[in-house]
Amino acid sequence: MEIITAVRGFKDILPPETDKWRYIEGKAHDVFSAFGFREIRIPILEKTELFRRGIGESTDIVEKEMYTFTDRGEESLTLRPEATASVIRAYIEHALHAAEPVTKLYAIGPMFRRERPQKGRYRQFNQIDVEILGPDDPHIDAELLVMVIHFLRSVGLSSLNLEINSLGCEKCRPGFREAIVSFLRGREEELCGDCRRRLSTNPLRIFDCKVEPCREVMTQAPRMTDFVCEDCRRHFETLQQNLEQFQIAYQVNPKMVRGLDYYTRTTFEVTTEHLGAQNAVLGGGRYDHLVRDLGGPDISGIGFAIGLERMASLIPEPDAKTSPGPLLFIAALGDKALQEAFLLCNRLRLKGILAETDYTGRSLKSQMKRADKLNTAFTVILGEKELVEKRALLRNMRQSTQEEIGLDDIEETILKLAR
Ligand code: AMP
Repeated sequence: MEIITAVRGFKDILPPETDKWRYIEGKAHDVFSAFGFREIRIPILEKTELFRRGIGESTDIVEKEMYTFTDRGEESLTLRPEATASVIRAYIEHALHAAEPVTKLYAIGPMFRRERPQKGRYRQFNQIDVEILGPDDPHIDAELLVMVIHFLRSVGLSSLNLEINSLGCEKCRPGFREAIVSFLRGREEELCGDCRRRLSTNPLRIFDCKVEPCREVMTQAPRMTDFVCEDCRRHFETLQQNLEQFQIAYQVNPKMVRGLDYYTRTTFEVTTEHLGAQNAVLGGGRYDHLVRDLGGPDISGIGFAIGLERMASLIPEPDAKTSPGPLLFIAALGDKALQEAFLLCNRLRLKGILAETDYTGRSLKSQMKRADKLNTAFTVILGEKELVEKRALLRNMRQSTQEEIGLDDIEETILKLAR
């Protein structure tokens, strides 16, 4: 019969890969807690309107990539393509701003974008999303970057490049936008169809275009750094000084605009050469008006999202032989021994000891092979004769030694091995 496979662009995360994910998530919980963050769990499905308004109508995500459908109640719903809009929705809906002047939240889970699948790019992928809501003080931007670099280092990632930029604010960005439009006027022929359209809808997006002629044109384009107002310039400088205080290396990349419309002032990305074409591990930035634009109070925010698939792919595979196997394997020979093995194995597990056994009644040789493959530390061999004599053989697999032990206090003997 024909097998049913997963949907294109959706992938299973199998063990031992899942061990890496748990390791990364565990580190995230620890590091983020020390910086005062709390976890928030948000739904995967939202009203489509949230993303249209939040991310921006003329972004690639909203224009081309969302999984949007009309549900049976005739409501337009969308599988979340990113988490920030949902976190802000929850923040406003539950008036979290009323409780604290600064709210620090993080969320972990799957996102959905109908992009062209390739290595490092999936249609369902997972992100760790981190947000700080409160004042627009540049110390907050620096604090967030200090934390993220510390987090990446703490999971063992090095040779990372931090790129930062300032996209300006409501005051200075319109001037930059106009400068881009007048720079490109008369050069429309050199741009791809999408960028020609972007010229009137969202000219900054053209910096993000991957088509070679567009990239070529944009190398000559004006830079936001030349247009930032005094406030934005000071904001950006304070951030840089504070990164230097913590010896965090960075590069200013004036062409980095990021794919979402809500960003103001600070934007950043962490990339690495080890990822190939999809080289961004994480991206984020400041959004001083998103809360207001989604109907909330005038509170600023800054956040970032880390791609878990990309991050996990940078951490080396654990070596099966060095990863700890079970403490005990119980090789049982005959029905009675098998029942005894069942009881002992599960009693040990109830006490938190990783034990394995085999109910197939296979030969001792093949059971020992399995014990070896599992990388078990000890094996107990239980045969019919041993049962009658109330004893068992305990084999130390690492030292290749064995001794006889009594069956009556076998559980206690094994528990002692675990200490
Ligand atoms: P973004 O939400 O687009 O700013 O992306 C933040 C991070 O999420 C990126 O740096 C990637 O690590 C990851 N990411 C974004 N899109 C995908 C995708 N389609 N597949 C896998 N990871 C992704």
